[in-house]
Amino acid sequence: MSEAFEALARLVAAGDVVVLSGAGLSTESGIPDYRGPSGASRRHTPMTYQEFTRDPLARRRYWARSHLGWQMIARAAPNEGHRAVARLQAAGLLGGIITQNVDGLHTAAGATGVIELHGRLDEVTCLDCGNATGREELHRRLSEANPGFDARVAHVNPDGDVDLPDEAVTGFRTVDCALCGTGMLKPDVVFFGETVPALRVADCFALVEGARALLVLGSSLTVMSGRRFVLRAARHGIPVAIVNQGVTRGDTYAALRLDAPLGATLRALADRCAAAPAPV
Ligand SMILES: [Zn+2]
Repeated sequence: MSEAFEALARLVAAGDVVVLSGAGLSTESGIPDYRGPSGASRRHTPMTYQEFTRDPLARRRYWARSHLGWQMIARAAPNEGHRAVARLQAAGLLGGIITQNVDGLHTAAGATGVIELHGRLDEVTCLDCGNATGREELHRRLSEANPGFDARVAHVNPDGDVDLPDEAVTGFRTVDCALCGTGMLKPDVVFFGETVPALRVADCFALVEGARALLVLGSSLTVMSGRRFVLRAARHGIPVAIVNQGVTRGDTYAALRLDAPLGATLRALADRCAAAPAPV
């Protein structure tokens, strides 16, 4: 193992580490990282909250794509990286877990108390009456409203939004809130143009400021939403370690960097630092 890995292992073994994870941690679960080493970029611009709420056609496009994307997200299972983070937490080495991912895979791997900065894709809320429902129920309702909707899934983005030609969107029927009958439904994820709830951000800042180290996993730190925690740690003299494939926008603040595959690296890290060895 490299010198950087040894340094990382020492840092994590000392405990009180706060994890900040991004899309790169979920690529090994089959959810593509659109800014990762594959170089793939989003083929369409992400929908903003304003478009979603004001433009019925944009909303239909979102739900048509997301209806297909959800099937892929729902099938995704946690990978070695998620399991390693859960092991580090179980070993008492983590002060908290913050994720930019909306796939719920940290929790599925057994982690607890995860702060989901950008929300969860598996929950849906009515923007009028506030009724919250599970995504599975919405999926069933959308399937019933769109029999035979079998457009091919060509590509899926981390937010569950699939590339789909406009022709395929024509005729897709969205559904409204089942409780109040007319309310607009929105997945519980933070859209572009929408701000993360202030209390959630405050919780994250408090975690970071109380940490002995901040460990960034699989994030290019492109958006300020995540990068601000690296900046805060740096300002407080808290060491930042980054494990990511490719450069990140936090590299200049990092005490150490590993450009390596997440799953294998984190498994080795958990083997080294967490008491119990991984089950074979
Ligand atoms: Zn409603």
